[in-house]
Amino acid sequence: MDCKTAQKMIDLYIKKQLNTKEMEAFLAHIKDCGECREELEIYFTVYMALQKLDEERDVSFNIQKLLQDNLAASKRKVHRLKIIRIFNFALVLWAEIVLVMVILTQIQAWNAGGYNDTYMYRIVYEREAEPASEEAERESEKMERESVETENRNGKENSTDRRA
Ligand SMILES: [Zn+2]
Repeated sequence: MDCKTAQKMIDLYIKKQLNTKEMEAFLAHIKDCGECREELEIYFTVYMALQKLDEERDVSFNIQKLLQDNLAASKRKVHRLKIIRIFNFALVLWAEIVLVMVILTQIQAWNAGGYNDTYMYRIVYEREAEPASEEAERESEKMERESVETENRNGKENSTDRRA
């Protein structure tokens, strides 16, 4: 954001008429730009002075502190809204993924004439069954073979021992 845009926003900022995006950009500029910050201080002082004059006469107040509080509150608000926005985005994304999976599953089910051949069905119900069938069988076969081999070797060793 350039200084001209920022200075146009000062009035809107003080009157709380900026939307979150504008406020975020404005705060970022004010943080780094001394000139615009000074401008904001002047506007803020005048605005607060006029308001305070309306409310109560000769009251002394710390403009610097008021502006600091005001900026901190705005920053918190922007931060909070940003988190809400990210959370909403994640929620919408999740909902869309679920929706797409539901639609794909439905289409597959229509084409296959049942749910048993859909990806979702296989993912949910057949993932646990898979390793038990093939891999475990292969594993037990291998173990059996090995144990037979060890037995044979032991037997041979025993016989040579006896011969010696
Ligand atoms: Zn500036």
